[in-house]
Amino acid sequence: MGAGMMRAGLVRAALAIAVLCGGLGLWGPGLWGQAGVQAGPTAAAGQAAGAALPVIHVENGPNSERAKAQHYVVLVSLDGFRWDYAKRDGARHLLALGKQGVWTPEGMLPSYPSLTFPNHYTIVTGLYPEHHGLVANSFYDAVRGTRYGMTDAATVTDGGWYEGTPLWSLAESQGMRTASFFWVASEAKIAGYRPSFYLKYDDKIDGEARVAQVLQWLKLPEDQRPHFITLYFSEPDHEGHEFGPDASETKAAVLKVDALVGKLKAGLDKTKLPVDLVVVSDHGMVKSEGGWVTLDAFADLTEFETVGSLLYGKSEEDRARVYNQLKKASSQFKVYRRKDVPVELNYSENPREGDPVVIATGPFAIRAHGPPPGKDDHAPTVGMHGFDPRKMPEMKASFFAVGPDIVVGKTVQPFENVNLYPWLAHMLGLNAPKTDGSLDVLAGTLKDGGAEAEPEK
Ligand SMILES: [Zn+2]
Repeated sequence: MGAGMMRAGLVRAALAIAVLCGGLGLWGPGLWGQAGVQAGPTAAAGQAAGAALPVIHVENGPNSERAKAQHYVVLVSLDGFRWDYAKRDGARHLLALGKQGVWTPEGMLPSYPSLTFPNHYTIVTGLYPEHHGLVANSFYDAVRGTRYGMTDAATVTDGGWYEGTPLWSLAESQGMRTASFFWVASEAKIAGYRPSFYLKYDDKIDGEARVAQVLQWLKLPEDQRPHFITLYFSEPDHEGHEFGPDASETKAAVLKVDALVGKLKAGLDKTKLPVDLVVVSDHGMVKSEGGWVTLDAFADLTEFETVGSLLYGKSEEDRARVYNQLKKASSQFKVYRRKDVPVELNYSENPREGDPVVIATGPFAIRAHGPPPGKDDHAPTVGMHGFDPRKMPEMKASFFAVGPDIVVGKTVQPFENVNLYPWLAHMLGLNAPKTDGSLDVLAGTLKDGGAEAEPEK
């Protein structure tokens, strides 16, 4: 652990983790089987030398000889980092990455809905939300008879909710070690694997400690050293919601995460390892307009299961009735029977999307119900996202990449984020399954043009 991690803030964060995890009853060998804290018996000494982070180590075996010969990829997500923030706010480290490598000056297209959970999981699976199963941050599954919630640890850690093969599982299944300093779905066993190293989500762990841990992982002996590492920052999404995309607080958060990217890049350069650094965001941000649009003002939803603005009718009769009631109710949303949702949204095949499907026509906050009588209502957040990125450019995300596999100084036209998966798999030398993405889309950013490697002898 580096001296930089001795800071009091981190010690406080570590204490907070212990309290939080203890309080939720999540932190026990009973639940995690092979899991253990990386620092092991020297944890106390570790505290003295700098707080030990609660890294969970899963024994997936050493890197194969083939894996050892591959390059490294560090995939960073800056939550809610809108496509135009870097230039607007002079995020010099990110702009430098773009100059030394590639970037999208006009932004990257998130998948619909432009929300955190669906898009993070799309980035690591190459699947549209309706194909990987996370169709929203929270939703209902009629087969299970329960709901998935992004803040519900029991569902988040249950691999049964997730389809597809996340990149870390793909790599692990092909003999390559991986690590995740947070990413949606990284705490669940999916497609047979977990990352070799990961942590329970705790936003109190500060950014510097996250960067230091990623660099630490790259100092592990070659047979344990992860080749694919994810790193997540919840900023500037939080500030964008609370203060709006144009607020000084949001701009400060943009520069804060930019500085962390700069630290990471400098640290990666020092390792002398062949590391491709890829920095993306999940979606953008827009200033919301007006108050809540509450659907039960227009239609009787008493027989419906609802989550946010998602509507789950129990009978065809109910679904048709509510569709007809909502059809001409407001100019602030459109309603579709699920099978009729416009094809470019890729939002018509999964029952978790509900039926009928309500889609906002502008930056409007839509919900099925208000609070129960007697309970205080709260206004929508100042900033919002989740909207169709083709109709609302503020939803577009960011993309920067630099490294030994990436061409220098090229800009990329807006592309759909499902295409990151085959591209990342290619850089890691992995055989990728068929997904919704195509390697052709980003092949021009690769020094080898996306060509097949020499077949193994
Ligand atoms: Zn958000």
